[in-house]
Amino acid sequence: MTETVDEFRDSLTGDVLLEGDGEYERARVSFNLLIDRRPAAIARCVDVDDVASALAFGQAQSLEIAVRGGGHNPAGHCAVDDGLVVDLSRMRDVRVDPEKQTAISQGGATWLDFDTATQAHGLVTPGGVVGSTGVTGLALGGGIGHLTAQYGLTCDNLLAAELVTPTGEIVRAGEDENPELLWGLRGGGGNFGVVVLAEFRLHRLERVVGGRLEYEGEAVAEGLRLFRELASDGPRELSIQAQLTTDASLAPQLVIVPCYTGAGDDPEVLRPLRTLPGLVNDSVRRHGFLDQQRIFDPGYGVDRNYWKGHFVGELPDALIADLIDHMSALGRPPGGILIESLHGAPKAVDPASAALGYRDAAFNVSAMASWTDPAHDKEGVDWARSTAAAVEPWSVSGGYANYMQADEPLDRVRAAFGPDSFALLQALKSRYDPDNVLRRNQNIPPTAGP
Ligand SMILES: Cc1cc2nc3c(=O)[nH]c(=O)nc-3n(C[C@H](O)[C@H](O)[C@H](O)COP(=O)(O)OP(=O)(O)OC[C@H]3O[C@@H](n4cnc5c(N)ncnc54)[C@H](O)[C@@H]3O)c2cc1C
Repeated sequence: MTETVDEFRDSLTGDVLLEGDGEYERARVSFNLLIDRRPAAIARCVDVDDVASALAFGQAQSLEIAVRGGGHNPAGHCAVDDGLVVDLSRMRDVRVDPEKQTAISQGGATWLDFDTATQAHGLVTPGGVVGSTGVTGLALGGGIGHLTAQYGLTCDNLLAAELVTPTGEIVRAGEDENPELLWGLRGGGGNFGVVVLAEFRLHRLERVVGGRLEYEGEAVAEGLRLFRELASDGPRELSIQAQLTTDASLAPQLVIVPCYTGAGDDPEVLRPLRTLPGLVNDSVRRHGFLDQQRIFDPGYGVDRNYWKGHFVGELPDALIADLIDHMSALGRPPGGILIESLHGAPKAVDPASAALGYRDAAFNVSAMASWTDPAHDKEGVDWARSTAAAVEPWSVSGGYANYMQADEPLDRVRAAFGPDSFALLQALKSRYDPDNVLRRNQNIPPTAGP
């Protein structure tokens, strides 16, 4: 297809990378090194016309299409063997309107791009906790982070979007235009088109009380119980996440990461956690929101990953004990179990405003196996699966689409929305992508034709 590719290349304002091009190797890599794919071409788009051309070219050449935002999806959906990647990594502009308290970000912007732009005006939207994650990719799956309790899921703050559909249509979704599509974008992923612009509501916030609280020994279980109580009864000014990992002796370690936006530098609500015997490190302090956003920053594309989890309605003592046992069984870094609380603002949002189906859950519990040596592939996958199996009895929904691997069955994707919302999503899919061109995602297949 060389000649055609040359024409395609000439037609783009952006560029096209092929095997052998200098930047091809870096551009094909995703966060998850377990996924190793070699696309036929990577179209690095710079505007809406480039995106439309890429979608048209891919279909004309019968190439399977993948869309790349920040490249973080653990399923590696941003890369496809022998297919075409519609790469948005050169579309990262974020425009802030401080008067209206809104920001419009291009489809490839990352959270570091977004937070830097909005914090310049003392504003935020609740986003992901790692700067290199794509804003749009994360928002389309929901979005849980340091400000979830205060301001809701990321998608609850998604006001509007502009998409290019596989048929080349440019569609706007907002409260007053195609509201059902906006509903679908709030959780339904990249199924309906390539989002070139996403508009978010912003909130005034510059400094937070946050950091890491680390526990070892007996305090791991007790810390998790305190975390559970705080997440159940805590105020909306406190978002909180917990992560089970391993300490230097390879025994389970607990890291709790609070983000408090109320008054005072030493909030009363955090005292029980900060005075618990067995606390071995306390870096909690008042700092800028951008500092809070760096707490979890890992390296990019350095590990192989396999993640699996469930939303749960409760975190009973028996489950806490099971999770600690599973952490002991892994007995090596990296890798861990992430527990994200969904208390506060997500519960105050009208459930009918978004397609996602996990709003009622108390926690998102995810086994995140990471390793570097391919010899550990089976061990990592097995550990994540067996840990998730221990969580399953408390599951109230399918898993979190944003953390799903590509091997999740359709039933798990359906369960993540519930049957009614899934049927509506399928109808939306049939309308905007009837041929399922955008299927490299947590896929919602179109309704079968007549
Ligand atoms: C290190 C790390 C930290 C994370 N932290 C969080 C977190 O704090 N909170 C959270 O909720 N999730 C988090 N996630 C999960 C993350 O939200 C999802 O993996 C999300 O899909 C990543 O989006 P991306 O654009 O970076 O990824 P990509 O792999 O580039 O894209 C993922 C999917 O989204 C679609 N997509 C991306 N951009 C667009 C677009 N503009 N238009 C249409 N479709 C698009 C793609 O088709 C693809 O299927 C994290 C993941 C990693 C690896």
